[in-house]
Amino acid sequence: MNFKKQTKTRLIQKIEELNREIESLSGIDEQLKGQKEFYEKILKTANVIPWEMDCENDLFLYVGEQAEKILGYPVKDWYKPGFFSKNTYPGDIDTVKAIFKHTFNEDIDNILEFRLVSKQKETVWVRCYISVIKTEMCKRLSGFMIDISEHKKIEASLRESEERFELAINGANDGLWDWDIEQDTIFFTPRWKNMLGYQDSEIGNNSEEWFSRINRNDKNRVVEELESHLKGSSRHFQAEYRILHKSGTYIWVLTRGIAFFNEEGKATRMAGSQTDISERKIVEGQLLHDSLYDELTELPNRVLFVDRLKQGIRRAKEDASYDFAVLLIDLDRFKIINDSMGYEVGDKLLLKMSHRLEACIGSEDTLARLGGDEFAILLSSVKDIIHVTRFAELVLKISMLPIVVKKQRVSATMSIGLILNKLDYDKPDDILRDAETAMYQAKNEGRARYKFFKNSMRKDAIKLLKMEDDLHMALERQEFEIHYQAIVSLLTNKVEGFEALLRWKHPLRGYIYPDEFIPVAEETGLIIPIGEWVIKKVCSQIQSWNEAGHEGLTISVNFSARQFERKNMVSFIKNVLTETGLSPECFKMEITESVTMRNLEYSRKILRELSNIGIKILIDDFGTGYSSLAYLKWFPIDILKIDKSFVFELLNNSGDSEIVSAIIAMAHRLNIRVIAEGVEDIQQFEFLKKNNCDYAQGYYISKPIPSYKAVKLLG
Ligand code: C2E
Ligand code: MG
Ligand code: MG
Repeated sequence: MNFKKQTKTRLIQKIEELNREIESLSGIDEQLKGQKEFYEKILKTANVIPWEMDCENDLFLYVGEQAEKILGYPVKDWYKPGFFSKNTYPGDIDTVKAIFKHTFNEDIDNILEFRLVSKQKETVWVRCYISVIKTEMCKRLSGFMIDISEHKKIEASLRESEERFELAINGANDGLWDWDIEQDTIFFTPRWKNMLGYQDSEIGNNSEEWFSRINRNDKNRVVEELESHLKGSSRHFQAEYRILHKSGTYIWVLTRGIAFFNEEGKATRMAGSQTDISERKIVEGQLLHDSLYDELTELPNRVLFVDRLKQGIRRAKEDASYDFAVLLIDLDRFKIINDSMGYEVGDKLLLKMSHRLEACIGSEDTLARLGGDEFAILLSSVKDIIHVTRFAELVLKISMLPIVVKKQRVSATMSIGLILNKLDYDKPDDILRDAETAMYQAKNEGRARYKFFKNSMRKDAIKLLKMEDDLHMALERQEFEIHYQAIVSLLTNKVEGFEALLRWKHPLRGYIYPDEFIPVAEETGLIIPIGEWVIKKVCSQIQSWNEAGHEGLTISVNFSARQFERKNMVSFIKNVLTETGLSPECFKMEITESVTMRNLEYSRKILRELSNIGIKILIDDFGTGYSSLAYLKWFPIDILKIDKSFVFELLNNSGDSEIVSAIIAMAHRLNIRVIAEGVEDIQQFEFLKKNNCDYAQGYYISKPIPSYKAVKLLG
């Protein structure tokens, strides 16, 4: 089959189809008739060239007669093998061939614009409509070509004038340059040279004057951009880079330019501008720095840490041999240090701690300050759990060394939550959440320790949140009650006073005991409003009994660490005493040894203040903690309460009875009274009496009971 003929036949068929279509329309319309003639005319006379080609062999099988007009070659030349490649613009031929091939292989229609070169060596822009024709035997490409050179010229001149205009506008404050690429001479305006600190005469006119000053780290990038533009791949040249100033420092510039190409597509000339963007870069750099680093310690902040974590997660997923660990570190009791010693001391402490932590980590690890007194370490290339444990121990050890800030010794331990990536995390936030849970667990277990995260902790954390919610409600709905447990004098056998013990009357669960909810209240800070409620309540209760004739009754109130460390605690108690009229001598503060040991200086100061106004200080659960009698001398302590665990075993365990009698004797020597708690039977009661214990408290005398029952014990 002759393809030339086939295409021709196809065209004629198309026109005939059109004819038939027009004629078939009822009442043949004059306008349509006109259209038909118009199409025929286009095909014959306009610059529309039908063509057909064997693209594998680069051979035209058919071109319309109009082809001669478009490039100036006679039609017979078009049928020579390789004519198409030879006369297509060198920069376009590869792309065109590739698109032709793709169109052919995929059996699709396509439209493509590219350049041909005329016999007179002029560029002719064509738009080519391509489709595939298939017969039983063969498959060919065919289509139409339209000369769109005029349209392209207008487009280009518009673009050029737009770009020139932009350059002129920016030129006012910019340095300008005009580069004759063939001669390699550049004209730099005085402003260009001035920007680099030079007088007009101090800089020559070759491209080295420019390129040799570009910062080594930026040079490759600039050259790449430039080459890509000179090859015609980008419409503009544009680059931001550092260039050497006469002063020896680098300034940031933005250089923009456009090349002018000759008919062969070679860049012959290029011109552009140079803008000083140093200030913008400084601001950008500062902003970037500020957004990623902590101001006080200069360590990465949470944003940067999360980003590093993301990278760690990605790396661990790609490389099975890589693993990492995360340590979430919180300073213990930082708030108290801040409150009692001032922010300046607090800041210095954080800074010193950050330096110590920095000394522990390797170059691949990241130490960040997440906020407040919270730090985090991303430990890279972790070998195993022993490696992480050793590291955590090291961190704990260095944190325990005392720090001297403004001539004051401050000791701040740390609680650490640990995560090993073995749990296969996807999100940094999940890692931080679990590390935080583990860190809180470390705090709950007595601080100054580390804890690896376990899944069960997450459940505990949820339970804690629920309990926190419930406690808030309990406070609002006044579900708390005070039960009073009598304390009797072993000398007179009379009720000397009571210990106030808190109960939560839960609407569904009944009484909930303090061991269950006090730690949560302590953890969440709710202990403060709850504790204040207790103080007010018991003071007015005892005062009302005193006024009813039971003079001199005392009330023992338990204080947790958070309550004791509260800033305005002393003034709060003072106010309540004044408001209720209760004498300070009747108020006993029960604190444990561990509370007082947390910050010896602070404890001594506060206890002295309390003691000075007449309040009695009682050390609760004595024997279970440090049990250091030496420090008792240091604090103004009035009473020791021997822990019930010793009292329980008094008569079964000779060791315990000796301890109890020794404590009593020693305390008396220091002029301190002694209470024994947990007295459950007469034998214990008698033993204590015989050993000169001052007071007893326990189920043998009375359980903790509501006020209406307690008042009956007073007789
Ligand atoms: P605690 O101050 O050592 O109180 C003594 C605990 O021993 C009380 O437990 C009391 O009911 C119990 N107890 C008293 N006598 C006996 C006895 O003969 N045998 C036995 N087995 N137990 C006896 P409770 O009421 O459950 O209180 C537990 C802890 O909760 C208290 O220990 C105290 O540390 C804390 N707590 C209670 N009320 C408050 C409060 O209002 N504020 C604060 N911060 N803590 C409180
Ligand atoms: Mg107590
Ligand atoms: Mg106790």
